[in-house]
Amino acid sequence: MTVGHAIWPDQLTDDERACLRPGLPEQLDRSPRVLIVGGGMLGLATAAACVRAGPGSVVVIERDWLGAGASGGAAGLLMPEAHDGVDPPALVDLARLSLEAWRELDQSWPGGVGLMEVQWSGHRQARVNPLRAIARVAAHLPCVIGGVEARAVAIEGGRVGSVQTTIGEMRPDNVVFATGTPPRIDGLEVSVPASEVKGHMLVTEPTALQPPAAMVLLARSIEGGRLMIGGTLDVGDEERVVRPQVIATMLAELEAAWPAAHGLSVAYQWACFRPAHPDLLPVIDRVPSLSNAWMTYGHYKTGILMAPATGRALAEWIRSGDQPPEVRAFAVDRLLASKGAEQRGLDSH
Ligand SMILES: Cc1cc2nc3c(=O)[nH]c(=O)nc-3n(C[C@H](O)[C@H](O)[C@H](O)COP(=O)(O)OP(=O)(O)OC[C@H]3O[C@@H](n4cnc5c(N)ncnc54)[C@H](O)[C@@H]3O)c2cc1C
Repeated sequence: MTVGHAIWPDQLTDDERACLRPGLPEQLDRSPRVLIVGGGMLGLATAAACVRAGPGSVVVIERDWLGAGASGGAAGLLMPEAHDGVDPPALVDLARLSLEAWRELDQSWPGGVGLMEVQWSGHRQARVNPLRAIARVAAHLPCVIGGVEARAVAIEGGRVGSVQTTIGEMRPDNVVFATGTPPRIDGLEVSVPASEVKGHMLVTEPTALQPPAAMVLLARSIEGGRLMIGGTLDVGDEERVVRPQVIATMLAELEAAWPAAHGLSVAYQWACFRPAHPDLLPVIDRVPSLSNAWMTYGHYKTGILMAPATGRALAEWIRSGDQPPEVRAFAVDRLLASKGAEQRGLDSH
């Protein structure tokens, strides 16, 4: 969920905006090969990968509008190299694969997904408007439905037999829960420690100032001559509000690091919530003891970056039945075993 006013919807065309609120199709396949629950970046990227992985229908359901969760408020940075030496190698490896997958998606998806190049510390990195990427992917998927919630599952012989939704029962061959945080769905036993870490973002009025490239994690130029600043890590602040004092502190910290930034005017300010687990790593796994159900959530600071590689791994796992090696580090059992584990430090960016 995003509170305040993010810049991303204002950058979209009317057609792209319309893609974020897809209605019910005239004909709905209630027994698709893959049902994806959750219309954030992970759900859409997984749907795109499943469509490409093989025949059979793929349906996405989202209880709100596409991008209504954390995805719609993210900074949209795709910078695996910024995580090198900071995060575990398995995360950095998947992030690097995912930046490649983003480039491939941008070139091969009809109309592209709006990837923009970013230079950082001698590396070619990238960024996206996350809502544009979601809208562009959704525009060319066969079936994406907004305003539909998955409420319950019925387990039949070690598999999800049916999913009860607000538009009735569906009987998918396979189901992926890409729900941001662990799914809260009756009949699905997924009890892992999870939280959300709030972050504020701001975008300035147009300015002639260009921040030094080395400062991209703090402030970066975006379209229209504006600067985008953030996000903060507001650990412990769970309130769904934008705090003016946090915005003021962000500007003061920018000015302290870069005195030229004095006097910038704020045009957009918003806050959103990073889904997190105690070790700050995502879950990308099959649902324990269910042969046809997968889940991915808890992507914390890197869900936009990780989406295409995660989606590709899940699509391949569903197709082949074998766990792809690049997602082994993100199995859910590490959380079931370490519920009392201390949190890894909540570091910056
Ligand atoms: C300030 C800030 C800056 C960030 N910057 C970056 C960045 O620069 N780069 C980056 O890679 N990441 C960034 N992130 C992290 C990123 O936003 C998240 O990791 C990512 O958006 C998670 O995507 P998701 O699809 O898993 O979850 P979400 O976007 O939350 O999507 C999950 C969706 O599932 C839906 N849903 C849940 N339950 C159901 C149900 N039962 N039925 C139907 N639908 C359901 C929800 O409504 C939601 O829309 C940032 C986050 C914050 C807060």
